[in-house]
Amino acid sequence: MRSLIGQLGRALLDFALPPHCLVCRQAMVEAGAYLCDQCWAPIRQVQPARCPRCSCPGAETDCANCAAWELERVLVLGEYAGPLRQAIHLLKFQGQRHLGAPLGRCLGLAPEFAASMSAVDLLVPVPLFPARQRERGFNQSQELARGLAQVLGIPLCEDRLRRQTATRQQASLDVAGRRQNLEGAFRVVGQLPAHTCIGLVDDVVTTASTLGACARALAGAGAGRIWGLALACPFLRSGGP
Ligand SMILES: [Zn+2]
Ligand SMILES: [Zn+2]
Repeated sequence: MRSLIGQLGRALLDFALPPHCLVCRQAMVEAGAYLCDQCWAPIRQVQPARCPRCSCPGAETDCANCAAWELERVLVLGEYAGPLRQAIHLLKFQGQRHLGAPLGRCLGLAPEFAASMSAVDLLVPVPLFPARQRERGFNQSQELARGLAQVLGIPLCEDRLRRQTATRQQASLDVAGRRQNLEGAFRVVGQLPAHTCIGLVDDVVTTASTLGACARALAGAGAGRIWGLALACPFLRSGGP
């Protein structure tokens, strides 16, 4: 009965306020999709010709971008630009929490990654510092990880990796500064099952210093292999960070 009332309320609301795409504001027929088909299309399409290890463009082997990374692989859906960037902004900075799961599903359903993803045993979202999470009301990486877990059928571990120090904003720091800023920022509660391949979920990868700091904490707790799974990185088309 309650769901019927909910559906009726939704139908009335759609009648009074027709649904529109959150990115381009175009009116849409389908409620509950949040973005129109034209805005979802480029997000769902993985961009080709990239390093098989870190997803940056160009390099097939001996990629300079990821040579020093602690992660075995990083799978990235697309460049941090266009509708994908707008969707991430809506999720992170405009409280559009419900966009997290469908964006996570896009990454999980990318046919280019389907075979690779089966190697991952456990999904772990990059945690926020508790005060930051309270301020935002949710952790965007957790929302993404929930969408990924739904489509991949991989268990999700949301509470073992913790952020124990509030760090400065990374954007203004160079690579060495980022690494130093994050040293000791993460810890894992207890031990992880040995040889586990962890899929570490984040929204945007820049220099992979956050993923690297998480990877060191997870490796210290017994994780075998660690992969990064992210929606976007800022340099897919331009050739380097
Ligand atoms: Zn649109
Ligand atoms: Zn690479």
